[in-house]
Amino acid sequence: MKKIRIIGGGLAGPEAALTAARLGCAVDLYEMRAMVDGKPRLTPAHQTTEFGELVCSNSLKSESPNTAPWLLKQEMRRAGSALMRIADETAVPAGHALAVDRVEFSRRITEAIAAEPLIRVIREEVTRLEAESDYALTILATGPLTSDALCAEIERITGSGHLAFYDSISPIVEADSIDMEKVYFAARWEKGTADYINCPMDRAEFDRFLDALLEAEPAETKKWETADYFEGCLPIEILAWRGRDTLRFGPMKPVGLRDPRTGKTPWAVVQLRKENLRADSYNLVGFQNHLKFGEQARVLRLIPGLENARFLRYGQIHRNTYVCAPVLLDETLRLKCAPRILIAGQLSGVEGYTESIATGLLAGIYAAKLAHGEEPVPVPRASALGSLVHYIIHADARNFQPANMTFDLLEPLEEELRKKVRDKKERHRLQCERSLAAFDSWWAAQTQPKLQD
Ligand SMILES: Cc1cc2nc3c(=O)[nH]c(=O)nc-3n(C[C@H](O)[C@H](O)[C@H](O)COP(=O)(O)OP(=O)(O)OC[C@H]3O[C@@H](n4cnc5c(N)ncnc54)[C@H](O)[C@@H]3O)c2cc1C
Repeated sequence: MKKIRIIGGGLAGPEAALTAARLGCAVDLYEMRAMVDGKPRLTPAHQTTEFGELVCSNSLKSESPNTAPWLLKQEMRRAGSALMRIADETAVPAGHALAVDRVEFSRRITEAIAAEPLIRVIREEVTRLEAESDYALTILATGPLTSDALCAEIERITGSGHLAFYDSISPIVEADSIDMEKVYFAARWEKGTADYINCPMDRAEFDRFLDALLEAEPAETKKWETADYFEGCLPIEILAWRGRDTLRFGPMKPVGLRDPRTGKTPWAVVQLRKENLRADSYNLVGFQNHLKFGEQARVLRLIPGLENARFLRYGQIHRNTYVCAPVLLDETLRLKCAPRILIAGQLSGVEGYTESIATGLLAGIYAAKLAHGEEPVPVPRASALGSLVHYIIHADARNFQPANMTFDLLEPLEEELRKKVRDKKERHRLQCERSLAAFDSWWAAQTQPKLQD
């Protein structure tokens, strides 16, 4: 059997590689980040050469039962996702979210790949996707920062252009530089454990902060970037420009975060989420921005509790690269114009860590089936995994924007049932139940015994 080539050692690539290997396929895993002459060669967002590096937040989103991110993770767990298992093993407290110790997470992924005899790692930038190669199949998982040469090659093969927009990093502060007298621990609506630090603002403090933010100088924009921000990931200064209250209805929303010391809900709140098990750093939730670093320090230190904050990382904005999936991909993530190439991860048009791992898992399963000479059966539309793929391949190609897993991607309940069940939570529970059932029957029908290990 010919080998499978997987390009990209971020999240989707390692998941695809470990899945295909588990299904008995030999894999060559290419990653361009490497140590060269004793120095790391990286991307603009990555800080290490490890596999599975989380470039921004350490959260894989909600673990609350019957939420859309939970549903997606449950299906991945049921399919034996290697990265979900590692995420569960390296989880750190984060209320009702699944957050991981990022260092431990990528270390264990790197270890799992090294321990897999069917995977060979090649630290090289891939720039060509030859039609006739030694490989039976290729999985492209080079992510939002796909190298320029490979972008040009993808364009050559697909005949279509890429879209570019800004994606963002939230600032990180050292825990012991937070003034704990001025902040409080709480979970919104007291749901889950109180792992978030909340920095409360009264009206005057908020106005002072907002004025400083509105005046702050933006960072330089690279010439290859355009101003097509992803709506779900807007920089705080853009939100501030939209109106004086926009931030209070977005990342600074105070509802459900009563200050236990005063018994009152503040005018606005900045939430900080733990970065690792030792709790020695916190990220400012939803505070991605495109301001100069000096300006960030000045403005963010106006937040009560952060007057003397030490920043381990400032907010940043980066390019995102993704193909026009509705035009290019089929239901099994194969390029219609070059069916030996599958696309997974952010490059396929999904958005987010979990969604990227999810498509890596599917690409690994489909590629393994193809390598064994079988036609892959697409995961059903009724499941969460199937809904995600259904969205990217059926979205409006003219306005295609990457998708997170949300309830509105799932098939709605039948009209009759919708009328009968008025409670939204109960409707979500029913949708989850239906998705899991659809997923389980698809999974059970995967005949190879190794698939169900
Ligand atoms: C700045 C930034 C912040 C983000 N913040 C978040 C966040 O907080 N939460 C969230 O859920 N998602 C976030 N994302 C999205 C995040 O990148 C994806 O969710 C996820 O990392 C994508 O996984 P991936 O495997 O597709 O790509 P990556 O994880 O980026 O992996 C792709 C890999 O391919 C390698 N590569 C690229 N070109 C080549 C080549 N030619 N040859 C060989 N190797 C190559 C890269 O070095 C990289 O290691 C962010 C993205 C960026 C850019």
